[in-house]
Amino acid sequence: MKTLDELLRSNIKGLKPYSSARDEFTGAASVYLDANENPFNQPYNRYPDPYQRNLKAKIAPIKGVNADQIFLGNGSDEPIDLLFRAFCEPGKDNVVSIDPTYGMYQVAADINNIEVRKVLLTEDFQLDVDALLTAADDNSKLLFLCSPNNPTGNCFKEDDIVAIVKEFDGIVVLDEAYIDFAPEKSLLKRIDEFSNFVVLQTFSKAWGMAGIRLGMAFASKELIKVLSNIKYPYNINILTQEKASELLDKEDDKQQWVETLLKEREQMNSDLQQFSFVQKIYPSDANYLLVKVDDARGLYDYLVGEEIIIRDRSSVALCAGCLRITVGTADENKLLMKALKTYQK
Ligand SMILES: *Cc1c(COP(=O)(O)O)cnc(C)c1O
Repeated sequence: MKTLDELLRSNIKGLKPYSSARDEFTGAASVYLDANENPFNQPYNRYPDPYQRNLKAKIAPIKGVNADQIFLGNGSDEPIDLLFRAFCEPGKDNVVSIDPTYGMYQVAADINNIEVRKVLLTEDFQLDVDALLTAADDNSKLLFLCSPNNPTGNCFKEDDIVAIVKEFDGIVVLDEAYIDFAPEKSLLKRIDEFSNFVVLQTFSKAWGMAGIRLGMAFASKELIKVLSNIKYPYNINILTQEKASELLDKEDDKQQWVETLLKEREQMNSDLQQFSFVQKIYPSDANYLLVKVDDARGLYDYLVGEEIIIRDRSSVALCAGCLRITVGTADENKLLMKALKTYQK
């Protein structure tokens, strides 16, 4: 197994990170004349904590990890991009990814000029462990998994994920954006076991905070240190840190939302089954359903005309004829069903 140092790009290994005023003095004081801030317009005049210490202290016990095993980013997009920048030499290294999956891994790879080696899921949307490992070579630095997977909606088998983490000679990134909706357990507890394992989670889905842009990466403290060294110094603004901290006190609300959405998902599932144009509804461990229909584009366009927007995934691998429908409130889902009844006639 390659060490972190062996996997890192050489420019990152030797990087001297930016040292901000708030890095050089971290205690409490009464007069701050160190950062060229405007003394007026409190509290927005001050730079935010570059390491989000208060917020991480709150997240750590909820997630059952140490604060130094948490990286907070401007959405999950930030840690995804930083992982490329830390480990992948543009034009030389490559990453392995499942197909179909979340589109951001490919975009981040393209921006960083990194080849993506895509490996199809099996027909039942599970991992082809051997094919994923065979796709990798000595320049494969990252391997992206997403469970529950977007857009297929299902979780992968824990044994398969762990087998890949053990065998892959690079960093395995497991995106758990939808884990709060899944019956399966998060693999977060296993970051202590493997030095090459990163788990991504987000406040954008179950926590209902997509608008404040806050994503999390969990890994060994050594790997988290690398991401912290290369991020923009003040990547999480004051408003986001404060709002997230406030909403973290309302974990019961989040739990209530998840339960409601799971019930609504089952309702949506049974409502959709009555339509003759619905060929198949795939099992979901997330807050959306992947649905195979007779004329995906036609139905999508019809719903746009009804001011109901879903996602056409019919051009995605293994998803021919498929639409992805996010579970909304009971009222929103009823409006969808009403429109579909008119469409059927
Ligand atoms: C929605 C989603 C995210 C969340 O991204 P943010 O940048 O944190 O909003 C991450 N991964 C997957 C697979 C998603 O579908």
